[in-house]
Amino acid sequence: MFSIVLFGAPGAGKGTQSKMLVEKYDLTYISTGEMLRKEIAAQSPIGLQAKDIINKGELVTDEMIVRLIEKTVRETKQQGILFDGFPRNVVQAYILEGFMHRINGNLLGCLSLEVPKETLVQRMLNRAKIEGRADDKEDVIMNRFKEYENKTLPVADFYKGENMYYPVCGTGSVDEVFSRLTKIIDSKL
Ligand code: AMP
Repeated sequence: MFSIVLFGAPGAGKGTQSKMLVEKYDLTYISTGEMLRKEIAAQSPIGLQAKDIINKGELVTDEMIVRLIEKTVRETKQQGILFDGFPRNVVQAYILEGFMHRINGNLLGCLSLEVPKETLVQRMLNRAKIEGRADDKEDVIMNRFKEYENKTLPVADFYKGENMYYPVCGTGSVDEVFSRLTKIIDSKL
């Protein structure tokens, strides 16, 4: 059992690439953002707790994230798990280590989609028009970048320190980015 962390700023293309990777390698897909949006739509206790935080562009608590994903991690039948949007801070990177330890798994690596900030902002604003996500408004987008820079970027240093960090150019066509990612994954499998 292995796991892959797909890392990158909001708008880096994690969602698009994840869906293709999950299919190619037959992985369990864990997108904490997507799971939270489902909880909000279902008006579950977690969803009600998360809604205002997400709509401000802030990160929800680590405890909520553990509650959200631990069952899926424990019960996965696939050969591996792809994490999209997790870990979002260094505490969550340690939480992932704990999860892997418990299920006898290992982290293949943290693959980071690198995209210039101007491109990211433009992509996010375009997506706001198409998808209508409640947290894709300009001021909220800026707050999400701030959270990313303050809390999530240190996760990159954490994995660099463990020799687990693989930067991948995230510009170009979807297929080009996909082939850069699969080259790294194939070399690790
Ligand atoms: P995403 O779809 O990954 O961009 O996530 C949307 C929002 O959900 C984020 O801006 C956070 O408010 C929340 N969120 C998603 N994943 C996490 C996480 N691992 N830790 C904390 N908050 C998260």
